[in-house]
Amino acid sequence: MSIKNFLISCIFPKRCIFCDEVIEYDKNMCENCTDIFSPATIVRHIPYFGGEKFIECISPFLYTGGVRKAILKLKFHNVRSNLDFFASSVAEKLLENSDISDVDYICFVPMSEKNFKDRGYNQSELLAEVLGKKLKVPVKNVLVKIRETFTQHELGAEDRTRNLIGAFSVLNREEVRNKNFILCDDIVTTGNTFKECAKILSSSGAGKIICCTIASAK
Ligand SMILES: [Zn+2]
Repeated sequence: MSIKNFLISCIFPKRCIFCDEVIEYDKNMCENCTDIFSPATIVRHIPYFGGEKFIECISPFLYTGGVRKAILKLKFHNVRSNLDFFASSVAEKLLENSDISDVDYICFVPMSEKNFKDRGYNQSELLAEVLGKKLKVPVKNVLVKIRETFTQHELGAEDRTRNLIGAFSVLNREEVRNKNFILCDDIVTTGNTFKECAKILSSSGAGKIICCTIASAK
């Protein structure tokens, strides 16, 4: 470490992006968090259009333990220190597992107007923006949530599917037609949200759709 960096680290000690422990100047995480946040490759194939088609969903983490806690902090407490690392991990796994060379836009799962007003930000949009910079793909807001839905995990399997039907729409069909998308969200559980969004994008003429999230529930 240079003298300059040493002095800076004495005055402003560098802290782990996840647990706040003081760490070495050239690191992002403490050793414990490096073990917990070691990206894996989780690829899921989510059926849509009655099982006729499948969309691929790529995630670098399982939604459990420390990863779950960190995502909840991002989602509900506006803690963004982990966002860059999460977006890098998603970008790395997308590049390893999918052909994104012909992708036109990155889009994200929208929140309802009311939820957006209450929270003040959409964590999936934040992820899309950082991911867009890393992959050098423009971000476009193409979807809109047109009605309130119940929280998915509070519902049984059948109600979950019914809960989302007709909840999303596209903002402008012209911007979607013949375009290929990366569609991102913070987590994927049953895949119903992606299924519904992909159905709307496809019926509006979208080409390829690749889904990605920070974490997958299975
Ligand atoms: Zn840590």
